[in-house]
Amino acid sequence: MNMAKYSNKINKIRTFALSLIFVGFIVMYGGIFFRTKPIIMTIFMLLGLLFIIASTIVYFWIGMLSTKAVQVTCPNCKKVTKLLGRVDMCMYCREPLTLDRELEGKEFDESYNKKKM
Ligand SMILES: [Zn+2]
Repeated sequence: MNMAKYSNKINKIRTFALSLIFVGFIVMYGGIFFRTKPIIMTIFMLLGLLFIIASTIVYFWIGMLSTKAVQVTCPNCKKVTKLLGRVDMCMYCREPLTLDRELEGKEFDESYNKKKM
């Protein structure tokens, strides 16, 4: 379980990948300020490129995870969402969902996740 506020796992990873792209572009943009120093500019560009490559890898990883994720219809908002692992949350309404019969009916909520940490 993650320390951060609990949310849908796939969404969380997707946000991470998106932020990597942003960091990459910011770093590359930073290189423009070193136009007069080609070596420093090149380093910035390569660093930015590394972030974007990392993001591509993370996106690829999400794709792999998505194939393993179980598609269910959320009982709360009736939308089709993807579950990863034993417990996860609806991508749309953050309804806690579980595939584990043992956990069914038990108070799986935010506090349950906090105790597990
Ligand atoms: Zn839902």
